[in-house]
Amino acid sequence: MFIGAHVSTRGGYLGAAKTALSIGANAFQYFPMNPRSLSTKLVNQRDTNACAQFCQEHGILSIGHAPYPLNPAADEVEREHMIKLLRNGLEITDACGSVGLVVHFGKYIGKDPLQGYKNIIQCLNSAAQGYEGSSLILLENQAGEGAQLGLTMEEMVQVRKLSETPDKIGFCMDTCHAFASGLWQGHNWLELETKGTQLDYFPHLKAVHLNDSVHPYGSRRDRHANIGAGYIGRENIQQMLSSSFLKQIPIVLETGSGSDGTHAQEIALVKSLITST
Ligand SMILES: [Zn+2]
Repeated sequence: MFIGAHVSTRGGYLGAAKTALSIGANAFQYFPMNPRSLSTKLVNQRDTNACAQFCQEHGILSIGHAPYPLNPAADEVEREHMIKLLRNGLEITDACGSVGLVVHFGKYIGKDPLQGYKNIIQCLNSAAQGYEGSSLILLENQAGEGAQLGLTMEEMVQVRKLSETPDKIGFCMDTCHAFASGLWQGHNWLELETKGTQLDYFPHLKAVHLNDSVHPYGSRRDRHANIGAGYIGRENIQQMLSSSFLKQIPIVLETGSGSDGTHAQEIALVKSLITST
């Protein structure tokens, strides 16, 4: 399986891949561009190519995480900008050889939620227009904190289906968000898997954000806990990790780092949960 953590790009994209390898990971997540800004970034091809090559040589899978202000549900006045940013991120993750670019489903503050969904679909359509890379847009489910969209598998599946380029769209499941939003109760993974397979969600699951939850089920609060240290708990996570849908995709921790400043220990813990099933 492909287990890892979010790592820094201080040493470039290649540096991020090397960091992942050094902490015992064979998967990682990185920010392709400044996570707090809405500005686009010029691609340093030497770095992206070196990253892609390094990952291929070492059997590492990666995903990029889009900047936080990127909101596909934003209204028309902001759309051009969102499209540019999304496309830019997608081109960088593609050049780095990454599975995809994780994008939060989006926040819509207007009165009509249907408009929010329409905005998302239009944004995805435009960003994917003419894009021929293999890195996918990965829609991430939300916890429900300040956003009522994107809490369910049904919404993810519908947005993908209604877009013009479903083959460019996949899903990233954040386990903390899924638990907080009410999507996953923790103890009912098999039930979730059956439902998600019927819906056509799991066949397009391309990445997992593996986080425990500081707050209880259905709290709609987005606070990640270390594995086994939150309300989801080790056993439920262990059951989830035995899923056949998780065998070939990057599973990435977005939790606090350990006492050595890295995720080495937590990655080892996750691996131990896998081997003991
Ligand atoms: Zn996440």
